[in-house]
Amino acid sequence: MTTFFGAIADDLTGATDLAGLLARSGVAVSLRMGVPSAPPQTTAPVEIIALKCRTAPVDEAVAGTRSALDWLRRAGAQRFFWKYCSTFDSTPRGNIGPVAEALMRDLGAGQTIYCPAFPENGRSIFMGNLFVGEQPLAESPMKDHPLTPMRDSNLIRLLEPQVGSAVGLANRLCVARGPEALRARLAELKAQGVAHVIVDAVANDDLHVIAEACRDLPLMTGGSAVAMPLPKLWLEQGLLPEASGNRGRDMARGPAIVLSGSCSAMTNAQVAAFIAQGHPALQLDPLDLAGNGAGAALGWLSRQPGDAVPIIYATARPESVRAAQDRLGRERAGEIVEEALAACAVAARDQGRRQFVVAGGETSGAVGRALEIERLDVGREIAPGVPWCFAESGGHPIAITLKSGNFGAESFFEDALGMLDP
Ligand code: ADP
Repeated sequence: MTTFFGAIADDLTGATDLAGLLARSGVAVSLRMGVPSAPPQTTAPVEIIALKCRTAPVDEAVAGTRSALDWLRRAGAQRFFWKYCSTFDSTPRGNIGPVAEALMRDLGAGQTIYCPAFPENGRSIFMGNLFVGEQPLAESPMKDHPLTPMRDSNLIRLLEPQVGSAVGLANRLCVARGPEALRARLAELKAQGVAHVIVDAVANDDLHVIAEACRDLPLMTGGSAVAMPLPKLWLEQGLLPEASGNRGRDMARGPAIVLSGSCSAMTNAQVAAFIAQGHPALQLDPLDLAGNGAGAALGWLSRQPGDAVPIIYATARPESVRAAQDRLGRERAGEIVEEALAACAVAARDQGRRQFVVAGGETSGAVGRALEIERLDVGREIAPGVPWCFAESGGHPIAITLKSGNFGAESFFEDALGMLDP
């Protein structure tokens, strides 16, 4: 099967978010953890490559995305998407703009759009300004992000220092007039030499207009939501084949485990709700791990019966996270926990567990790498932006879902496991 649509995401849970939304169309979607070392062989009509380059040095991010682009082109892709966070996480140096420019150069694309809007999750763009719920971006909690503090809400001003040429706007009044009007606006800006266009969107209807107007652009950029309407449009045009059933459903048999390294408010509630259901639970303590390693956790895991669904979690309230960080350093504390959860994942697989529910963006990356997952076939969504995926690990078929911090309802873990019950 040849690939038609190729997307590159700047982190793993961003990639699964995009994958879940695209798979709503019924088209087969495959996700790769990093650029595959082997050239493309069997590929899906929609291929997503997850990188880890949101805060990488610009040169590294550009090189990584260019090699992802090269792989996707060799897989046959003809339309491309650069996926970043719906809060436009970046600094004046990058990486959103420099990567977009590099991809445009490689593709010979004269213009692209930037639309991080995600109305279902409260991200909207009006007159070039990005809102998180009802707050301007720069007044939202993103203003204090440790790596990419967002101190301006205006996407034109945010993008300008990141790119080498003019940035323009197609505003909501234009989008509201429909795809023809938007196409005309893009052509007008192109005639003025504007290669980078921010496009307003406040509701899902706007995203449909944008997708319709931009379906033939070689490169689009944005959050996951603006890509969501694209597969349906291409299906209607015969450019994408319909999916042939839910691949991988049979592969999902076997005992399950929940691994949680996210400390978000929602994950804390999800862990508490799951434990309240009576599942065997083990809390990891970073200080204990630092002193004694993960042996005790592995021992506990080996004693859990196959028909139980154990949860191993480092999830904790902000006070105890801070206490561990004060003792060990923020990075070291994170690494120790990620390593322990990754070791538990491998042990669980070796003991025959085949269903993995993982909470936390960084945690997901660590677990995915430890399980040596190269490719994920994307299945049904458990919650918006969180699909079940099917993969191979150590020669075994497994089902795995990777949930970033605040996604999913309180019952997320039970919801996920319930969906795989025969
Ligand atoms: P999220 O998606 O919620 O941001 P991540 O997995 O990306 O979750 O990030 C959470 C980070 O916090 C990880 O590096 C994880 O190892 C670390 N961590 C988890 N539990 C603790 C804890 N109790 N103390 C300190 N750090 C922790």
